[in-house]
Amino acid sequence: MTINGTDYISTRGNADALDFAGVTLTGLARDGGLYVPRHWPQFSTEDIKAMRGLSYVELAARVMAPFTAGVLSESELKGLCSTAYGSFAHSAITPLVQLDGQHWLLELFHGPTLAFKDVALQLLGQLFERFLSGTDKKLTIVGATSGDTGSAAIDAVAGLAQIEIFMLHPHNRVSDVQRRQMTTILAPNVHNIAIEGSFDDAQAMVKRMFSDKDVNGPLTLSAVNSINWARLMAQVVYYFYAALRLGGPERKIAFSVPTGNFGDVFAGYVAAQMGLPIEQLIVATNINDILHRALSKGDYSVLGVTPTASPSMDIQVSSNFERLLFDLEGRDGSTTAARMKWFEQMGKMVLSPDMRKKSALLSSARADADQMAAAMRWAYGAADQIIDPHTAIALHAARASGIKPETPIVTLATAHPAKFPDAVENATGVRPALPARVSHLFDREERFDVLPGTYDAVRDYVLARAVR
Ligand SMILES: *Cc1c(COP(=O)(O)O)cnc(C)c1O
Repeated sequence: MTINGTDYISTRGNADALDFAGVTLTGLARDGGLYVPRHWPQFSTEDIKAMRGLSYVELAARVMAPFTAGVLSESELKGLCSTAYGSFAHSAITPLVQLDGQHWLLELFHGPTLAFKDVALQLLGQLFERFLSGTDKKLTIVGATSGDTGSAAIDAVAGLAQIEIFMLHPHNRVSDVQRRQMTTILAPNVHNIAIEGSFDDAQAMVKRMFSDKDVNGPLTLSAVNSINWARLMAQVVYYFYAALRLGGPERKIAFSVPTGNFGDVFAGYVAAQMGLPIEQLIVATNINDILHRALSKGDYSVLGVTPTASPSMDIQVSSNFERLLFDLEGRDGSTTAARMKWFEQMGKMVLSPDMRKKSALLSSARADADQMAAAMRWAYGAADQIIDPHTAIALHAARASGIKPETPIVTLATAHPAKFPDAVENATGVRPALPARVSHLFDREERFDVLPGTYDAVRDYVLARAVR
């Protein structure tokens, strides 16, 4: 198949190439890999200088246009971004806040559900609608959530005509704010399911639905987790945005990123491949530190998950890490396929010295509960900023990085502190209030169904309600 414009290939080298519309509507590639652009688009220093002074929406369209070439023009993208980011509560969309002479926060939580996932998912909702309209296709999104992803995804697609969303969460095991952010959205295409079971049970049911021919066949299932390329693409934008405001491209900037599934920091890696001068990308983990062990010692081995106050980083394996491995091994799909097959069997892999040399742009650090709390107190004491536990992990890593003081370090602030009031209050003594725009959550009607934790119950529920 030939594609005019940017095309996307699988990291495992054995699936059809897709254009941007195809890759947006698909989840995993058929060979089990993840889609990446065949080539990284390039911006020259002059191109990047010409981006100075653009608004967030204009910049977003400029940075993403090479990825959508052949499918969406820069001006079409601008229209979609303007709708997507119209729902943000800050006119800068992702404002920078200075902490001291070297450290800055990039606030990514001004979207409707107070977490950085809105930046990507609000746009993804617009892209879905754009690619479905004018066709008679219907998309059924099924997902499992332990909190943040579910609410951001529901908010992004609520009310869209050709999409039904079914979101599973473990009954009584998400916080009241997280549940209400999902269940108070009463649009008819939104179906919240509380299952009697754990998040892992919910996740396993979703996976099974994707491979169940009685479901995925009659229905066109789609995923909204961060393996979706369009989500990563939307996140590349704010690296450019921050760098341009702090003296880029003439000056190199460092970024510290609270990391779980490796999507957010991989977007920074993409910005660097496109020509943005980046001094360092710091991969910050909590005590669930598989990525820190991989990047600092070459040891990528699964150890099990310990729950922490930064739950969105409590991961066992990072799905997007495969995209980096593909690059580090010379973008050869068969090598990546063999490596991932070995990893799936053995639960571990080793990064060669050559791969570690090639990944030198990425450093890493790990923060435990005390270091996280100390970073929260420092931000409050030094700059009067209340930050959330995820952001605090990355701020700890930024301050411990040893990067020379002339280089600005931007810590990505991925959640509003009011999403994690207990952890913030424990560390700082201050209980952060929900912003006024979401404080209505506790007055609104909720709608969700509780189902037994069996696959059949969930499958029958979805089949009975999905629109074909
Ligand atoms: C999802 C999430 C992360 C982790 O991002 P990845 O792209 O999965 O690495 C960090 N912080 C918060 C608040 C999140 O919701």
